[in-house]
Amino acid sequence: MNFLAKLIPGRTDAPTLPKRHRRVQGVELKTEAELEIMRQAARIVATVLKEIEAMVQPGMSTADLDAYAEKRIRDMGATPSFKGYHGFPASICACINDEVVHGIPRKRHTIRRGDLLKVDTGAYYNGFHGDSCITIAVGDISTKAKQLMTAAEAALYAGISQVKPGNTLLDIAGAIEDCVASYGFSVVEDFTGHGVGRNLHEAPSVFNFRTRQLPNVKLRPGMTLAIEPILNAGSKQTRTLKDQWTVVTVDRSISAQFEHTVLVSETGYEILTDRNQVPLALASCL
Ligand code: MG
Ligand code: MG
Repeated sequence: MNFLAKLIPGRTDAPTLPKRHRRVQGVELKTEAELEIMRQAARIVATVLKEIEAMVQPGMSTADLDAYAEKRIRDMGATPSFKGYHGFPASICACINDEVVHGIPRKRHTIRRGDLLKVDTGAYYNGFHGDSCITIAVGDISTKAKQLMTAAEAALYAGISQVKPGNTLLDIAGAIEDCVASYGFSVVEDFTGHGVGRNLHEAPSVFNFRTRQLPNVKLRPGMTLAIEPILNAGSKQTRTLKDQWTVVTVDRSISAQFEHTVLVSETGYEILTDRNQVPLALASCL
């Protein structure tokens, strides 16, 4: 109980979205008007991922998926966030099995039955980015791959469940770490989630495990975070291939990842890249 709050009539401690754009602890808080645009950017991302999830077939190449994603993002009036970002050559990151993140789509990368495929993409729309990643089971996958996929999505939602005003990034990190441990998999520590908005990657870093490096940021309405735990079936260690982008597991074990762009709302969270809220037909209305 806040004593002052009781004494001053009309005062409320309920957190609210900022009326104007501002920054707290180095983190941008978005206004309702800015969030309306971000919702559009995120919806474009969710639409593309939902469509890709439905269309993936053995025999396609990851370059096929990239071409589709780029066309769809541009058709919906946005530009691909990833293309040209630090020189990245494509609109999606496509990773198969032991590839962890930042896989470059290639014509010769054929998708096969039994593969665990990760597709990550972003869209830049009217000044704001959305960012999301899904793992797709291509046909029947191994029991271990199924468990890893389930654990990766569970870890994401464990993290998201901690998103509310007053909680901190440590609450998100701890929930993800504990969830992954309960499944007996390892969480990759070389990459983190991030703030997202006017920039694809902005403050704060959103860690997926407890660490002293964690910025001591309290969550406030208007913060928009990309939460994206990466789980390996074996060791957490990764290495980057000669193409300078594609990251793989050192022990060749399989890897899975899910990511959402999430708003800290006044009462909790809103998943801006929620694919369940994106009927395929909606794309034509954007
Ligand atoms: Mg992403
Ligand atoms: Mg991201």
